[in-house]
Amino acid sequence: MMARPPLVAGNWKMNKTVAGALRLVEEMLPGLQAVGGVEKLLCPPAPALMPLSAILDGKNIGLGAQNLYWEKEGAYTGELSAAMVKEFCQYVILGHSERRAIFNESDADIQRKVQAALAAGLRPVLCVGETLEQNEAGRAAEIVSSQLRAALEGAQVDSAEALVIAYEPVWAIGTGKAATPEATNTLLRNVVRPTLAGLFGEHVATSVRVLYGGSVNAANGASFFAETEIDGALVGGASLKAQEFVGIVQAAQQK
Ligand code: PEP
Repeated sequence: MMARPPLVAGNWKMNKTVAGALRLVEEMLPGLQAVGGVEKLLCPPAPALMPLSAILDGKNIGLGAQNLYWEKEGAYTGELSAAMVKEFCQYVILGHSERRAIFNESDADIQRKVQAALAAGLRPVLCVGETLEQNEAGRAAEIVSSQLRAALEGAQVDSAEALVIAYEPVWAIGTGKAATPEATNTLLRNVVRPTLAGLFGEHVATSVRVLYGGSVNAANGASFFAETEIDGALVGGASLKAQEFVGIVQAAQQK
């Protein structure tokens, strides 16, 4: 099996002004830098990307945007292109359930965004996950597999190695009700990796990192990282608290 270095990513969503972002990074930086063997990634709101890229330069902490638009440039008021994101970032979160639910992003939109990100040399953190209703109807596997196939249609095998997948059951996001590590591991083993294998072959399926996201915190992080298929976490609420986020990164060191 390929070595998959653990990755812990913080999605700050629409929180923190630039001044607040600088304060938060200053607070977490010593703790993050003290942990080796774990890749760390911060995804602040767009205005904070430029100042944080200067501060994080040479510190081995990655930067990611929370979205992009697939067109290269032009009359798309309010949008950011992949090239604009690439000026400051290595990663971009795509297909987050909030983008799907609140901003009506379709699988086809997400597929175009994934293509644009990969073409620009950005690494997508592609989010997939079922709603509570779909989960209760026993449809988690079907939904996750179909979201993956739709978003990754047309991606080339060599660029697919740049992907990170985040399995984020919608019912676990921001609710304090995390999925169980065991059920997550089973879904990753039986659905996420076989879907990747079907699209890109075994090599990609075993080398791409698959994160869990949904109410991860410093207290429960280790239980997820103990599972063989879970390569890290995408963290929302707890990534806005320096001690919590550092605690999750420390927990990932055990992998
Ligand atoms: C998220 O929004 O990606 C997320 C996982 O949020 P939270 O950690 O707050 O559940």
